[in-house]
Amino acid sequence: TAPLLEVRDLHVRYPIRGGLWGGQVGEVKAVSGVSLSLNPGESLAVVGESGCGKSTLGNAILGLTRPTEGSVRFEGEALSASTTAERRALAAKMQVVWQDPVSALDPKMTVGQSLAEPLEAQGYLSAAAIRERVAELLSLVGLHPDHATRRPHEFSGGQRQRLVIGRALAAEPKLLVLDEPVSALDVSIRSQILNLLLDLQKRLGLAYLFISHDLSVVRHFADRVAVMYLGKIVESGPTQALFADPRHPYTQALLSAVPLPEAGARARRSRILLSGDLPSPANPPPGCVFSTRCPIAAEECRLSMPALHQGSKGTELACHLREPG
Ligand code: SF4
Ligand code: MG
Repeated sequence: TAPLLEVRDLHVRYPIRGGLWGGQVGEVKAVSGVSLSLNPGESLAVVGESGCGKSTLGNAILGLTRPTEGSVRFEGEALSASTTAERRALAAKMQVVWQDPVSALDPKMTVGQSLAEPLEAQGYLSAAAIRERVAELLSLVGLHPDHATRRPHEFSGGQRQRLVIGRALAAEPKLLVLDEPVSALDVSIRSQILNLLLDLQKRLGLAYLFISHDLSVVRHFADRVAVMYLGKIVESGPTQALFADPRHPYTQALLSAVPLPEAGARARRSRILLSGDLPSPANPPPGCVFSTRCPIAAEECRLSMPALHQGSKGTELACHLREPG
């Protein structure tokens, strides 16, 4: 069967304008040749530091940002080739939950109105059917149907994120792009929201593209993980394999910062601190994108960017000096 989502060799570049005449003086390479696929009901986490291009990737998948090159296919249909009406139908099947649940809900509307909006946009449900669906959505995300008459400020941050998730589910999407969905929430309620998302995934057969800067959050969440650095995927694989045996020096550094439950494993591993900052995506280093911070970089690393090579266990790795797992 065809994957639900297929991204091929996607590039997103933004012109930098400046100078006296406001002409183009450079280019930000936000996403540089990303390919990935996602099956129905599957969850893929895209992990990397802020500024690595993961949100831009998410926005290009959602059709909110136009790719410079490459393609996004949803259920076999190319997003770019579709008409406006087709694109609207496709867009309903892909929804997004962003980090900040406060700005995601209109403060002047009751939550019932907010949840009803995407249903009204479909244009074929009666008022009674919409009310019923709103009540259903509220209980789906663990809130009381009576809450429909309240306004967003009457809810806590966690409850608001539940509302945003309920709204995203209104039109029965097949894919949710979750862009740092728990990063703005109190640590104490993050696991509640993650558990809700896992539960909804099981019940509704949803696929998730989970964008996060935090590897520890994705560990018990995603089926697969892709690690992004400066616009490129440098390593990917099934979550367990990636956590058990990371091969890319960047993944190893990220993982070394993740607290491990087993004391023995913690003792065996020491923290790898990366020197320097993430280079600017307007001025990526020549050769391997990670070469300016890689603890094991060699001469050849500064000459060419290694291609992604496939390993035997569904893993992929882009490194001149290492083999995929
Ligand atoms: Fe480090 Fe070289 Fe591998 Fe890049 S290719 S990650 S610089 S060892
Ligand atoms: Mg972001």
